[in-house]
Amino acid sequence: MKEQYICHSCETKYNVTEMIWKCKCGGLLDLKKEKGEINLEKWKKGQSTMWRYVSSMPFSEDCSIWKTITMGEGYTPLIRLDENVPHTFVKVDYMMPTLSFKDRGAAVLMAKAKELGVTKVIADSSGNAGTSIAAYAGRAGIHCDVFLSESTSPKKIAQIKAHGANVRAIQGTREEVASAAQEAVELEKVFYGSHVYNPFFYEGTKTYAYELFEQSEKLPDALIIPVGNGTLLLGTYYGLKELQECKLIHKLPKLIAVQAENCSPLADSFSDNEKQERKDTKETVAEGIAIAAPARASQILEAVRATDGQFITVAEEEIQKARVELAHKGFYVEPTTAANYAGYSKYEGAKSERIVIPLCGAGIKGDK
Ligand SMILES: *Cc1c(COP(=O)(O)O)cnc(C)c1O
Ligand SMILES: [Zn+2]
Repeated sequence: MKEQYICHSCETKYNVTEMIWKCKCGGLLDLKKEKGEINLEKWKKGQSTMWRYVSSMPFSEDCSIWKTITMGEGYTPLIRLDENVPHTFVKVDYMMPTLSFKDRGAAVLMAKAKELGVTKVIADSSGNAGTSIAAYAGRAGIHCDVFLSESTSPKKIAQIKAHGANVRAIQGTREEVASAAQEAVELEKVFYGSHVYNPFFYEGTKTYAYELFEQSEKLPDALIIPVGNGTLLLGTYYGLKELQECKLIHKLPKLIAVQAENCSPLADSFSDNEKQERKDTKETVAEGIAIAAPARASQILEAVRATDGQFITVAEEEIQKARVELAHKGFYVEPTTAANYAGYSKYEGAKSERIVIPLCGAGIKGDK
């Protein structure tokens, strides 16, 4: 395989056939790959799924494993939010096989795992990533254990089990859940199907940017993006950078990152460059972005800065109110996704700029 893992800190390279998930130095792994093909003509002729972009993903040309795994994910509708706000669009990413945007990353990651001959995968999740990995692992014939917190929405847990995965519920914080999963990965020597650590996941989420490029006459001025671990934000950023490298776009849209006020580690570090004492995090209804210590924090901050973006935090009442408003417009989303709309409502550019809000997760899954 031509692509390699490369350490974000010390630049050591590893073959992807090595089942590692971080560098010997402890650093995070990125992907070093050949420049993928970006060919608009080919895209236009492709199917209406994110696999129209497969030539820009790190799979060899004759690799067809993804065809045995895809469930038609991606190429989701881009729809005007409300006719009174003609320049604001929502991208309905809950129209996915497992009802969240995580299918973009999970489909690519599990296709790669199958290509690598993986027989068992361990993942950890606050819900949707686990559901998605469980579904695609099931489809790929890969055994799957999902670590999650006992307090995860029961509907998400039920779905993970239904896909045949083994649920390992942990009493503890999201960070403790991740540590438990990582210990199990080391102990059992299996593939860590992590949406956070494995860079192949972002090869899937980057298609969000490609789709926006194809579906909009002109790329929006600003993209609202929820941020927990930053898999949508970073994927979008990578996709935009690739479009820029091919000179298809010249300026990147601003990335407007949304966090819950109750759990806003990145928004806090973004606003004070001086290292301040970290604020305690509290529970939030936005369980999908309740990440107190995101592993890729510095990469996320870098991406938001590079696009001249900003962070917005939203209060619990604002999230609840936003959920009701969105539902009245026809979009029934989970609370985590309502936070995106709440963030948009507070964004000062909302009146004048062209904006896209992602509807990342379906309402039916998020109720407790
Ligand atoms: C996972 C998730 C998020 C946050 O994504 P990150 O990759 O953790 O930043 C937001 N909304 C929904 C519905 C999710 O499932
Ligand atoms: Zn390293």
